[in-house]
Amino acid sequence: MKKRQFDAIVVGGGAAGLYTALCLSESLSANSSGLAARKICLITKDNLSISASDWAQGGIAAVMHSDDSSLLHAEDTLKAGAGLCEPAAVKVLVNSARTQIEKLITLGVDFDREIGGLLAMTLEAAHSRRRVLHAADATGHALVSKLAARVLERENIQVLSETIVLDLLMQQGRCNGLFCFSLNQNLSKNPSEIECLIAPVVVLATGGGAHVFSQTTNPPSSTGDGVSIAWRAGGLVRDMEFVQFHPTALAVKDAPRFLISEAVRGEGAHLVDDKGDRFTFEYDPHGELAPRDVVSRAVFTHLQKTGASTVFLDLKPIPPDRIAHRFPNIIKICQQWQIDIFSDPIPVTPAAHYCMGGIVTDADGKTSISGLYAVGETASTGVHGANRLASNSLLECFVFGVRLADSVIKDQIDLQVDLPASIDYPEVLDPAPEIFNSQTQAIKDALRSIVWQAAGICRQKAELEQALTQIQAWRQELINLKSYTRLWVETNNLADFAYLLVKSALFRTESRGAHYRLDYPDPDPTWQQHTLIHAEEISRSPLASEI
Ligand SMILES: Cc1cc2nc3c(=O)[nH]c(=O)nc-3n(C[C@H](O)[C@H](O)[C@H](O)COP(=O)(O)OP(=O)(O)OC[C@H]3O[C@@H](n4cnc5c(N)ncnc54)[C@H](O)[C@@H]3O)c2cc1C
Repeated sequence: MKKRQFDAIVVGGGAAGLYTALCLSESLSANSSGLAARKICLITKDNLSISASDWAQGGIAAVMHSDDSSLLHAEDTLKAGAGLCEPAAVKVLVNSARTQIEKLITLGVDFDREIGGLLAMTLEAAHSRRRVLHAADATGHALVSKLAARVLERENIQVLSETIVLDLLMQQGRCNGLFCFSLNQNLSKNPSEIECLIAPVVVLATGGGAHVFSQTTNPPSSTGDGVSIAWRAGGLVRDMEFVQFHPTALAVKDAPRFLISEAVRGEGAHLVDDKGDRFTFEYDPHGELAPRDVVSRAVFTHLQKTGASTVFLDLKPIPPDRIAHRFPNIIKICQQWQIDIFSDPIPVTPAAHYCMGGIVTDADGKTSISGLYAVGETASTGVHGANRLASNSLLECFVFGVRLADSVIKDQIDLQVDLPASIDYPEVLDPAPEIFNSQTQAIKDALRSIVWQAAGICRQKAELEQALTQIQAWRQELINLKSYTRLWVETNNLADFAYLLVKSALFRTESRGAHYRLDYPDPDPTWQQHTLIHAEEISRSPLASEI
């Protein structure tokens, strides 16, 4: 097996991975005699321009102006999190926001500004102030393109694109590296090309797993790989039942569920039913700008009540020049589906959008496994609780990315792992017959449908139990279909992710934040606790600090 050694490996080319690699590159270089001595590897299964981060639209939350305060930002975050945020982590998030935004600006990120140069801010649901910075409606792309350019300039970062990580290299309970393979080769014909990358610091920045739902705003690469990889290695995962459903994804037959950003409602668009009536106030006094779970359930319930198949976003209350200035990308995508957003209401539906739970980390990105770190959507730092406040997730990538890099240096991790004499990935496969691919694809499609049906916006015991039994059967089947293809690796990770999610949704017998049980429709104060999974064990764990 091919082996390579690095000082740190970052898995993920989204906002979290790129920023963490940049910060590690700076901290490691500053603390070493020369750049060449400190080598960081950044791995992505696509290339640096493909990630959920690149798709982010609305913006990034931060307190930048005097009419706002970190205290208010913290209050809004805690309220959206419905009693399950870790207050200490929230404090870190809101207090560090401004510094990270300033650093992003020095790295070349252009946020929109008002005439006069003041940073422009928009309003999103459940924010008490206009505090969302943006770059038109393509904020993620503006961030990722600049960060990727900076990463490529760094001599001590080696980027391995189109390379997929399979599992971690675990030795005496410590993570000392990982196994991966390049997607540019035919591994089923030549399985010896699995590589072992060795490093004392491995960072999972692999993003979320919302692609486990058939209806999702996420790219196909959001297959929950990091959570599944860490869990298989014995790491702790938390709050997997909490998935945010975004109320307004494009609902056109055969179109992907393209996100129609919340900023559209923030700028004044109305959510209307097929008769043109604004209906959200029937469900919550905040109407369209109630938290996302409330609006998603309002849409779900209203559609059931009226028998209609879709609801609509009406942009007529927004002045046309404002629409043109703020939403050029949404205009373009809708045009592709023959919708002129200046005159036509946009048909929308809820879709799975963001995974609040993930790999348990402390405020420095450390997981329960020595040598393993996590950051971004794959991590559970505790900032999102039972429901994420809009635009806090990009912020989380930066705030916790820099802390992770700093802590690696602070802890003076021994930056050498001895190269083990022999390492074998557990098994080497014979070329897999083509039929394996079609069976794996069929499992993937069925899995995504069942997770949407059973663990979507409204959940209940019988359906969750049935889904869990079926998912277990598919996990077994996948073992027999094993082949080193991207399809198999991602489907296997999706199946593990689905197992953790559905098991947690069944375990939590209450409704809270984004987790809604029809059979337990109210919050239960005794459930103000995290759901923790270690191997097959599921348990409750109290919050680390009081609210
Ligand atoms: C349509 C959309 C709009 C959004 N809008 C906003 C917004 O306005 N504001 C906001 O704050 N948040 C928004 N979000 C959420 C936010 O974009 C994500 O939470 C955030 O970008 C996650 O960043 P990340 O770096 O953790 O993961 P990602 O950006 O998903 O990156 C994950 C990376 O890991 C790599 N990877 C994964 N598994 C493997 C593997 N096995 N091997 C190798 N590489 C792997 C992927 O290739 C990718 O490079 C939005 C999300 C979507 C989908």
